[in-house]
Amino acid sequence: MHELSIAIDIVDIATREAAKENATKINKVDIEVGTLSGVVIEALETAMTEAIRDTMLEGSHISIHEIPAMARCKVCRHEFKIDDWLALCPECGSPENEVIQGRELRLKTLEVT
Ligand SMILES: [Zn+2]
Repeated sequence: MHELSIAIDIVDIATREAAKENATKINKVDIEVGTLSGVVIEALETAMTEAIRDTMLEGSHISIHEIPAMARCKVCRHEFKIDDWLALCPECGSPENEVIQGRELRLKTLEVT
């Protein structure tokens, strides 16, 4: 399962970051997932509960935030929300745009003790 390997990576990164601060426990983790990242949030939530077992993250509060995808039109510079990779600019109708947000999959904040 794709999401489980992502969850394991997140746990890995969080554990390493916490170790750098000599923490013994991770209390809270915020994860940002873009709507174009290819990650299914519900599946990632389920995978996280598996991945944190017997780690420093066990019992911590895990929040997964969805980041809406945005694109910027290369013709008129208009910025708009998109649902998939093929989107037309609502202002000028151009198909030429660049995705400026929505591909992210990152650990945003980490609270440790
Ligand atoms: Zn445009």
